[in-house]
Amino acid sequence: MKLNSWFQCINGCPEKVALNEIKYRCDTCGDLFEVRHDLNELKKWKPKRWKDLFEKRYRKHEWPYGSSVWGKKELVCPNLKNENIVSTYEGGSNLFWAERLGSQIGLDDLWIKQCGMAHTGSFKDLGMTVLVSMVKQMISEGKEIRAVACASTGDTSAALAAYCAVAGIPAIVFLPKNKISLPQLIQPITHGVLTISLDTDFDGCMKLVQEVCSANNIYLANSMNSLRIEGQKTISFELVQQFDWAVPDFVVVPGGNLGNVSAIGNGFLMLKELGLIDKLPRLVCAQAERADPLYRSFKNGFKDFKPIRARKTQASAIQIGNPISVNKAIRTLQAFRGIVEEATEQELANAAGKGNRTGLLCCPHTGVALAVTEKLARKGVIRKKDKVVVISTANGLKFTEFLYNYHARKIKGVHSDYAFKPINLPANFQKIQSRILKELDKK
Ligand SMILES: *Cc1c(COP(=O)(O)O)cnc(C)c1O
Ligand SMILES: [Zn+2]
Repeated sequence: MKLNSWFQCINGCPEKVALNEIKYRCDTCGDLFEVRHDLNELKKWKPKRWKDLFEKRYRKHEWPYGSSVWGKKELVCPNLKNENIVSTYEGGSNLFWAERLGSQIGLDDLWIKQCGMAHTGSFKDLGMTVLVSMVKQMISEGKEIRAVACASTGDTSAALAAYCAVAGIPAIVFLPKNKISLPQLIQPITHGVLTISLDTDFDGCMKLVQEVCSANNIYLANSMNSLRIEGQKTISFELVQQFDWAVPDFVVVPGGNLGNVSAIGNGFLMLKELGLIDKLPRLVCAQAERADPLYRSFKNGFKDFKPIRARKTQASAIQIGNPISVNKAIRTLQAFRGIVEEATEQELANAAGKGNRTGLLCCPHTGVALAVTEKLARKGVIRKKDKVVVISTANGLKFTEFLYNYHARKIKGVHSDYAFKPINLPANFQKIQSRILKELDKK
């Protein structure tokens, strides 16, 4: 097989751009690029042959194919030489049947895809491995790249920092001051990456990083760079593979900059095109009510889209008012009979609280997705027997302050329905025993 992939404008303008060019937008219409693949070449293999190959590689030792991103290298980025791949064995995150939570919200077949079980604790690793690998390849070809930079709500910067540290490539991260969690701030710092904390919001950081990059041979790592989308679309490949190539009825994903919902859509579309699956799920994009520009647009049938100023939300990684991938996301949602729904601070916090009582450890964004799932189940849009996958985007351990404040009832405007607290007792057998028995009797 002679595989190839390239950048091309999402509106189908004819210009094809090589993946090792430093270019993120179409000259003709100004819209974003996406990565296109030579599908005719890929179709030379029957679906069974692809499935066998992916099964054979999955979580095995042979480098880099044991990574679930690189196990699908032919469908992700065939142009990379293996020697340039920068990988931490990403992907292969567990898919958890949330039986108890499902039964509480009236769903028999609810699954949580734990994308936060990742090297840097979020799904951002899946895309960053592709982008940083391409940078390594470009540098090896003699391209002048002084550093790689991104603006971030905390998880992109963590992933960029880790992957650049693995590869030994300089990186710079732009963060909105006091708007990310402490673990997220520590991640780039501990990797020795230039960490710039700015007195603005994510949208402000995004604008500045683009200016700095274009003026200084610095490569931009935000998801407007569609190499990231190629890695993230393996979430769909993996999901389907984990269900023995069955397709769920609904996939619910929290959305901020809207790259991931587009990526997940692309993954399913590619599998369908290659005949590995024969239907598509419905996609649900879950937004925080305080940062809900896509929800507002959905409400008027996507007739228009207006950026907003995002307000402070517990779901800090999706506190974005002017999402860069909005056009991609709208197109994707239209192709998947998509739904956009939102959750208030109260709803997202309690959805996380409720989920955690059933053994999950939800980040607030997963809380948004769970709250939206519950809402759609209540409305009858999602039915009891539907197979539903909620994409848990980050590890709850990155958001302990959110969890702590929830249980300490310190989140303003939120009534913590599932609050719980430790019991302080003297180290005395009698006192401990009588208290435990009293507590157990309450149940
Ligand atoms: C980045 C991120 C999101 C949002 O993904 P987008 O592609 O920006 O829509 C959601 N949750 C977490 C934890 C993230 O890090
Ligand atoms: Zn164009």
